Order: sequence, then C-alpha cells, then structure tokens
Amino acid sequence: MAAALNKEMFDLGMAPNAIRAMFEYGIDRAEEIGAENIFNYSIGNPSIEPPEEFNQAIIDLMNNMDALELHGYSLTPGDKGFRQAIAENLTRRFGIRADRNNVFITCGCTAALTICIKALTSKPEDEFIAFVPYFPEYRVFVETMGGTFVECEPDEKEFQINFDALERILNPNTKALIINTPNNPTGTVLREDVVKRLVDLLHRKEQEYGHAIYIISDEPYREVVYDDIKVPFFPNLYENTFVCYSFSKTLSIPGDRIGYIFVPDEIEDKYDTYKTLVGTGRALSFVCAPMFLQQICAKCLDVTSDIEVYRKNRDLLYGALIEYGFDVIHPDGAFYLWMKAPGGDADAFVELAKKYELLLVTGATFGDSKYVRLAYCVDEDMIRRSLPAFKKLAEECHLK
Ligand code: PLP
Repeated sequence: MAAALNKEMFDLGMAPNAIRAMFEYGIDRAEEIGAENIFNYSIGNPSIEPPEEFNQAIIDLMNNMDALELHGYSLTPGDKGFRQAIAENLTRRFGIRADRNNVFITCGCTAALTICIKALTSKPEDEFIAFVPYFPEYRVFVETMGGTFVECEPDEKEFQINFDALERILNPNTKALIINTPNNPTGTVLREDVVKRLVDLLHRKEQEYGHAIYIISDEPYREVVYDDIKVPFFPNLYENTFVCYSFSKTLSIPGDRIGYIFVPDEIEDKYDTYKTLVGTGRALSFVCAPMFLQQICAKCLDVTSDIEVYRKNRDLLYGALIEYGFDVIHPDGAFYLWMKAPGGDADAFVELAKKYELLLVTGATFGDSKYVRLAYCVDEDMIRRSLPAFKKLAEECHLK
C-alpha cells in the first residue's frame, strides 16, 4: 500500500461485507444452477415497486416544472418547499410543532446518520451506544467520524432493551444512543413501556452528568410496520432527539438516495444545533440533495409502497420456520427475520444452509454470532419454493 494512502480507509475498503458477499455469491450461483434453484435471503433491497403516485409525480414534474430548476442545486439544507411539506406532514401525523427550519434534507439515512454523528463528535472519548444486533455501518460511521463505538448487550428474550447492560455502559462520556425501530436485523419495534423506561433513564442521566445525551433515531423502516403496531416518535417523548429518516424503503427507492434529518424545537440550543448540521453537511459534502428527488418526494409524503406484500411474506416464512422447529423472533416491522442458529454458531449454520441453496447472513455482521438474518423482501414465490429446503435443513439440524 502506498505510504500516502490513508491506512484506515484502505482497511475499510478491504474489509469483507458479509451481506454483499452473500448477495453476489447468489448471483454467481444462479448463473450456474438457475435462478429458480437459489433462495437468496441476503439483502434488504425492496421487492415491491414504488407506488403509482411516485411515477405520476415524475411525469407531472417533467411536464410542468422548469427543467433547469428541476435539475438545479437546491438550497444547502434542501428545498424550502420540500422541507416545509415534511414539517407539515410530521405535524399532521404526530402533533409536533415544526417548520422547515427543523428539517435538513440528506441523501438517505446513511448521510443523515453520518452528519448527526459528526456533528456530535468533538473528541475520541465521545461515546455512541448501539444496541446489539445493529446495522453494521453504525460502527464504521462512529469510528470514521472520530468517536468511540460502544455496544449494548441485547435482551436475548425479546430484543427490546437490556436495561441492566445499558446502565452499566452509560457514563459521562456518553454522547448519544443510536436507536433503530423497526429494527434491522430483528424486525422488532420498541414497546411503549420500554421507550418510557428508556426516556426516564436518559433524563435521569442527563441530570446526573449535567449535559445532554442524544437519541439518534434511525428510521428507514418507520412505515414498514404490520398489524397496527405503533412506532414511537421520539421527538414527542425526548427533547434531545435527531430523527434520521429515509424514503429508501417507504417508497422502494434505495438507489435514489433521499431522506432527511428532523430536529425538534426542544433540542438543546436548537438554532446552534441546526447550524452545526449545516456545517457538518458542508464539511462532508452532503449538501444540496438531488432536487429532482426532493420535488418527487414532496408529492409522495402521504403514500408508501404496498407494505401488505411484506406482511404476507412475513407470515408465510415465519409460520413455516416455526413449524419446522426453528427459533425465530416474531417481527413487527422492517422485512427481516432474526433466527437462532441451531447449534449456536451462525457462521457454521450459514455454510450448512448453503448446501440447500439457502443464502442467509451471519449475525456476526450485526454483532451477534448466535443468530442469522433472513431478508424476506423477496418474491413470495421464492419463499414458497424455498420451504422444502428449510424443512430439510431443520431435519439435518434435528430440530423435530
Ligand atoms: N439504517 C438501517 C437500519 C438500514 O437497514 C439501512 C439500509 O438498509 C440504512 C440505515 C441506510 O438507509 P439509506 O438507504 O436511507 O441510506
């Protein structure tokens, strides 16, 4: 490696990504034995089309909006009209007081998260807590932005919050907790009583330490939720909250890279906080998100892709896996199943599953090597075809 290169970035570039590796293995394997014989549960790419309103908005904008404006730079934190429309949407849905000065448009949740983390990091001692199992990029973002990444051990029974573990790791260096509900990879949604307990604990700790502890609420799956389960809206419950939202899964447009940060008026030093986000966006060059996407999404704030399709997939796959004897967490949202690896070794189980052309992702990627993740944002037909393979796998593991 050339001495001029940044070693940390080189190592990151070389580091394997288990999700991508399995996804690509699936593509190669499909070429060898036929796509219909591969059961690829590796990646969280939406499997349902964007809603009709999304396509219609594109046509309307192409016909009616000045092309130079449509494809021009927006303001640094995003188009005024789009930010105001988001604020009004949140006010309508959650009763919160908001206007465009509470909203900063980003290229998806990843940019939103990176901006929030960098905005809060002044020194290496600044700690960011994530709950095991967690989206693997959290560690990358925190460490690259110069903070310290801290894992909170899971509540293995329900994958809510292990408060004993959390109390053990909270300390005066704690800057923020990264919350992700509905969760990737478990599919769980934090219950109201758990959220209340969390908020009470953080208020107590803020008093004790004499400074703010932030919640960074990572919400790409806010709308991907089933059976009338309520997803907490943290700004109504906890002042020092950053919401990181994305349209990637809501509208099935992950490649279009659009989302936002929302900060409530009640956050400490709201004006300075917002300006810090703007400065951080500038430093990371995450400014002026694509105007075209901003204009389209402004017309789609009240619609989602057909989430019912994922609910059907969940019921089909969850029901079958439970019947075959697997130990699976019941998901309330997102489009993932979190399954205990029979024998307790996720890597070994993932290899065994490959024998049946079942492509799963090891939980080690998410900080817990006793579980595997299945992404069920796939064709229902693929799930049906894969069930005999799961049955054989269960038999080989002597589950019943
Ligand atoms: N956070 C979680 C938990 C995710 O699962 C994902 C994507 O899968 C992201 C963030 C990134 O989302 P975006 O496409 O909005 O950058």
